[in-house]
Amino acid sequence: MGDYEALLDRAYSSLPETLKQTARFEKPEIVAMIQGKQTVVQNLGEVSKAINRPADMLAKYLIREFGTSGTHDQQHLVMKGVFRQAQVQEKLDTFLEQFVMCPDCGRPDTKILQERRVSFLKCEACGSRHPLSAAKRTSASKTQGTEPRVGEEVTLEITGTGKRGDGITKMGNYIVFVKGAKKGQRVRARITGIQGTMIFATAIGTL
Ligand SMILES: [Zn+2]
Repeated sequence: MGDYEALLDRAYSSLPETLKQTARFEKPEIVAMIQGKQTVVQNLGEVSKAINRPADMLAKYLIREFGTSGTHDQQHLVMKGVFRQAQVQEKLDTFLEQFVMCPDCGRPDTKILQERRVSFLKCEACGSRHPLSAAKRTSASKTQGTEPRVGEEVTLEITGTGKRGDGITKMGNYIVFVKGAKKGQRVRARITGIQGTMIFATAIGTL
């Protein structure tokens, strides 16, 4: 018995520090304020510190995910467009899932390692290693596939009517307002503008 306990003691003391931490990981909360036509993340610095990723990586991720442009320093991120705090938090949660949390043990004590051209999520708590590319690429190509651009032609099913009589539909995370289209129609439309998660388009023909 005594030997067994001593053995356990030894085993425990040789565990990496991170495994000994039993405290539940507190997901950081993002503070985002809408200022005019911009959204300002006030605590980019604290959040990136808490999740142990560079502020730059998180800022670029958010800008890309919202399909907008923006500027940042170590503490603030200013994005063009109006995004509610909950929307920004949702993106942060996805970021955590993709680039921080270990898929095996669920702990956030991970690092991103680069080997040749492959990035790995290496868990310091349980030692597992997962290539990031698979998950990342799928989502990146998905985003790219649906990433709307001004001037692009798209096929849309109009599912609603806006206040001004425009057709409305959804495209990925975007709401699309289609001039000259009516609810129930299937149309080809050209994108004329993108603002935050809103797309403005003009119908060029029905299908
Ligand atoms: Zn792990």
